[in-house]
Amino acid sequence: MVGIVLVSHSRSIAEGAAELARQMGGEDVRIETAGGLDSPDQVIGTDAALVVQAIERAWSEDGVLVLMDLGSAVLSAEMALDLLPDGQRDRVLLTAAPFVEGAVAAAVSARIGSTLEQVAAEAQGGLSAKAVHLGAVAPPAEMPPGTGDDAGGSATAEFVVRTAHGLHARPAALLVRTASSFDADVNVTNLDTGRGPVSARSLNAVATLGVTKGQRVEASASGPQAREAIDALRELADRNFDERDEEERPEPTPVVRRGVSAAVAGRTLTGLPASPGVAVGEVRLFRAPSLEVRHATSRGAQEELRALNEALSAARRDIERQRSTAAGRAGAYRAAIFDAHLLLLDDVAIVGAAREGIASGESAAVAWHDAIEAVATTWENIADEYQRARAADVRSVGTQVLARLLGVEVPKPRLEAPGVLVAPDLAPADAAALDRSTALGVATAFGGPTSHAAVLARALGIPAVVGLGADVLDVAEGTNVALDGDAGIVVPDPDAETVGAFEARRRARADTDRAARKRAAEQAITRDGVVIEVAANVGSLDDVAQALDQGADGVGLFRTEFLFLDREDAPTEDEQEAAYRAAAVALDGRPMLVRTLDAGADKPLPYLAEPDEPNPFLGVRGLRLGLMRPDVLDVQLRALVRVAADHPVRVMFPMVATLAELRAARAAIDRAANAVADSGDRVAERLEVGAMIEVPSAALGADRLAPEVDFFSLGTNDLSQYVLAADRGNERVAALADALHPAVLELIRRTAHAAAAGGIWAGVCGELAGDPLATPLLIGLGVRELSMSAPAIPHVKHAVRETDLDAADALAAKALSLSSASEVRELLRTRADS
Ligand code: PEP
Ligand code: MG
Repeated sequence: MVGIVLVSHSRSIAEGAAELARQMGGEDVRIETAGGLDSPDQVIGTDAALVVQAIERAWSEDGVLVLMDLGSAVLSAEMALDLLPDGQRDRVLLTAAPFVEGAVAAAVSARIGSTLEQVAAEAQGGLSAKAVHLGAVAPPAEMPPGTGDDAGGSATAEFVVRTAHGLHARPAALLVRTASSFDADVNVTNLDTGRGPVSARSLNAVATLGVTKGQRVEASASGPQAREAIDALRELADRNFDERDEEERPEPTPVVRRGVSAAVAGRTLTGLPASPGVAVGEVRLFRAPSLEVRHATSRGAQEELRALNEALSAARRDIERQRSTAAGRAGAYRAAIFDAHLLLLDDVAIVGAAREGIASGESAAVAWHDAIEAVATTWENIADEYQRARAADVRSVGTQVLARLLGVEVPKPRLEAPGVLVAPDLAPADAAALDRSTALGVATAFGGPTSHAAVLARALGIPAVVGLGADVLDVAEGTNVALDGDAGIVVPDPDAETVGAFEARRRARADTDRAARKRAAEQAITRDGVVIEVAANVGSLDDVAQALDQGADGVGLFRTEFLFLDREDAPTEDEQEAAYRAAAVALDGRPMLVRTLDAGADKPLPYLAEPDEPNPFLGVRGLRLGLMRPDVLDVQLRALVRVAADHPVRVMFPMVATLAELRAARAAIDRAANAVADSGDRVAERLEVGAMIEVPSAALGADRLAPEVDFFSLGTNDLSQYVLAADRGNERVAALADALHPAVLELIRRTAHAAAAGGIWAGVCGELAGDPLATPLLIGLGVRELSMSAPAIPHVKHAVRETDLDAADALAAKALSLSSASEVRELLRTRADS
């Protein structure tokens, strides 16, 4: 198979284009990149030696096609060619093909086994679809259909393309790959526009048909496998080209439109439930306004550079504050997005470009604005709809710095009058700034239920629906809407019947809220007398205060990563001891369950200097990292052992996958206790030790882990992502990683039963624990402790008081017999309504 090398002066551009090309061509195509210089932090520049290395990695006897972007990339690629040995140089082609479109077309062509010359020709024609689409050129006559070798017969089929964007790049690539995998000549025609026929072996040709959603395509094949090819294409169309559009989610939720009258049901917009509750109010559209910079003129390079540096420092402080607010409300895991924002402030592609602009006479504001726009636009252009979040992050950070430079306030979605905030998506900082008294509800076009907007809306008690699609942005400012955050729907312009039903639900919920808050500080006991410990997830001392305020029985998850983030080196034993001690003192005798450092994966700590990993979520994270780095784990355990001498501290380990790991972790505790005792300090007589159950192997082997520990705490966030093989941070599959999936529930049941059999308790500290709808279900599954973000505590305690064990057992048995998360959610909702 022909290999492909992408040479860009920007490492991110090269890697971004490669990612896109791989999506189209598949992982088998060898696509290598050479971007930036030969040093991790020099991401801009080109280096002929790196190009040679990339060619060698991509090498096969079929040859290598090299695509370049502009400037020095071309020179470096030419120089690299000179450096290659003679036998290799002849099979390496440099092409003037467009970088992104060419890479995509080349990848698809290479994947179907085309020759180097054919791959080069496809790459070269990469712009044709765009040109035809934009009307720059007529549909190509130079892309002839296949020759129609009839030996073996012919076949034809007609199908309708139903993907949201028609035969856009990804489905078109799949069509080409499918058609080319048969010994047949396949041609396709757009029956609605009459374009074609064109060869189905060419991505460019297929793309120039301009097939949009709902259009009919005719595929005709000739040759020995004509019938098989046509059948496969028809099947592909039936499978909707494996696309997951807004309308075709992985697991469609049968939305219950409670309270929506038949008269308005037809205009209901469906998204994903993100924060429970209902709201009725007028639409307040928020699109972050762009700040005007063109009037800013340079006061001299030195002055402008100084202004830029000051604005960067001020923005850094702002973002650090936002991170600590978000961490307090939603946990350190969710707050990690702000670390990415901080990195952008150091990104050489942005800051370097801005400094260059200043040096060439621009004001800091103009130079920064242009640098941000260039990077954001790059992301926007190479990323699909779901990936735009990256551009939004860049712009969000850009706006904060720019506002500092211009001496104006950062535009925030502050609602002048109460209403439902409608936005494309909300930046984390925007969501954190929402005021519950004016933001009655939040509806976003994009983003998933684990997005920061959603997490913060939940923390603030604001009903929210996300991922409604662009249609929600067309609802006019001021239009009345009814929003149901439980069902994930928005009804524009509801009639009186619908408004009445929604208002009644809102009032009932408010009454329950009041009742729940009144009794928040009391113990939560089921109707039949079982005490359920309802504790808080915290990341800092501030969180502990908030937890107590909400009636927490203790801390059920202290995410200690927070102490380790955003530092030059790990906190010392003394620093850690002081932090844990302060929290324990504030808890005043209530239990404090501390999780040892859960770094790695999405929470890397630069100063640990761990190598990059291809699959960080399956790599060295959590306890694995602790065991590989006893220098870090032992310090933390010694600090905890010291505090445990005076306070009820429980210690647990994240990401336990095997018994051997757990035993090694226990040995580390013994080591720490001995060290503290040797130093002459007091050691607790007994320290409760637990395992987090968030890896399927731990849940399945819980009966073997139980004798080794005092408790289990189920991390359902990670457990769901590992059980369903769906990255919890990837909104494209976020709906799949649903902790209510019966497969996850079955593992919770097994874990809780293994705990009971072993005489220990099992709790849940993932997001699921904070959902009052799930409370009876979890109790029925055998869970006896629940830990959550502080605002959920009164509601979960209320739900515990409404539960009796027999009914909970029956509910759990019923849930386990269902086949999807949406069916379970429906069961819980119906029960709550009855
Ligand atoms: C979990 O995985 O459910 C959990 C509580 O841990 P975290 O969200 O911090 O990974
Ligand atoms: Mg976890």
